[in-house]
Amino acid sequence: MRNETLTQAKRIVVKIGSSLITSRSTGLRVEQIERLANEIAVLRSGGREVLVVSSGAIVSGIKKLGLKEYPKDLPVKQAAAAVGQSRLMWAYEKAFGRLGVQVAQILLTHQDLADRRRFLNARYTLTALIGFDVLPIINENDTVAVEEIRVGDNDTLASEVAHLVDADLLVILSDVDGLYTEDPRKNPAATLIALIPDVTEDIERRAGATSTFEGTGGMATKVRAAKKVGEYGVSTLIINGERGGLLPTVLSGGPGGSLFLAHERRLNSRKHWIAFTLRPRGHVHLDQGAVEALTTRGKSLLASGITNVTGQFETGDPVGCLDPDGKEFAKGLVNFPSEILKRMKGLKTQEIHRLIGPQEYKEVIHRDNLVLL
Ligand code: GLU
Repeated sequence: MRNETLTQAKRIVVKIGSSLITSRSTGLRVEQIERLANEIAVLRSGGREVLVVSSGAIVSGIKKLGLKEYPKDLPVKQAAAAVGQSRLMWAYEKAFGRLGVQVAQILLTHQDLADRRRFLNARYTLTALIGFDVLPIINENDTVAVEEIRVGDNDTLASEVAHLVDADLLVILSDVDGLYTEDPRKNPAATLIALIPDVTEDIERRAGATSTFEGTGGMATKVRAAKKVGEYGVSTLIINGERGGLLPTVLSGGPGGSLFLAHERRLNSRKHWIAFTLRPRGHVHLDQGAVEALTTRGKSLLASGITNVTGQFETGDPVGCLDPDGKEFAKGLVNFPSEILKRMKGLKTQEIHRLIGPQEYKEVIHRDNLVLL
């Protein structure tokens, strides 16, 4: 299974973390970028389509601006990202240019992915670039991304990109060898897990215990990214990007790293987008009858089963559905703004008609816009 998944993956998203290509003391590690470019070029010449998600803008900018330490202030961080991103791209341009590979820069924020039209637009752009045999190099648009519109870390961004372009495989290049049974830095008896068929609670616990040197992500974020894309039929490989030559070797079936196998695709792209890309703007609390109607009878959500409404949202916004224990079990696009829904909750259709007036929709969340989590 491992061999087949790795050797047959055609479209591959490769995530390159900050610690692999930058250092706080010297800025960009150009020789590492050149080595990784060589290895990615090997994959491309073997017929694979590669997209890169690269971090490193902020650290590279810190060095260029002569800052002493990692900035805490958002505007300074954003300034560093602006300065560093162009430096980063310049290094990639040069490294790939000498191999005859053209590159393109794409900067995304959560907002670009959370709007379905913009999401699809980004998909068409990336697909067009691949059609031109150009290597897309993607990063978060850190210079404009404030908290509400940030993806936040590039493991998550890479998993979103893998979904965006319908990749076969997500490769996360880390500074550790993969997922271990225990933290290898604390327990020398820990062993590397080569194949993970399922992201169980036990796996998530082990991920929490495996530390990395990297900034934002850590192993837990990587495993969460693997779980998320696994639901969309994309497998994830975590390998040590510091080891020269490992990337092409493992992808041609050699040992190394941890492979998280994908599940059969349970959700289509739109439903996966609702479930994993969108962030709920509010919640509806449901009674047990409504929970059963949604989970076992495939029904749409009606106002009568809603016991409480929290948050502020507009028509079309994503909201989470909570069961009586407060657990979020579904997510969907809502047909009413929160203000109206607060008045409608618990009411039957005739009562809504009588008390609030005729409404355009009977369903609060239509089945087609609802995903069970
Ligand atoms: N986008 C950030 C940068 O390029 C890095 C985010 C991350 O490492 O997850 O500096």
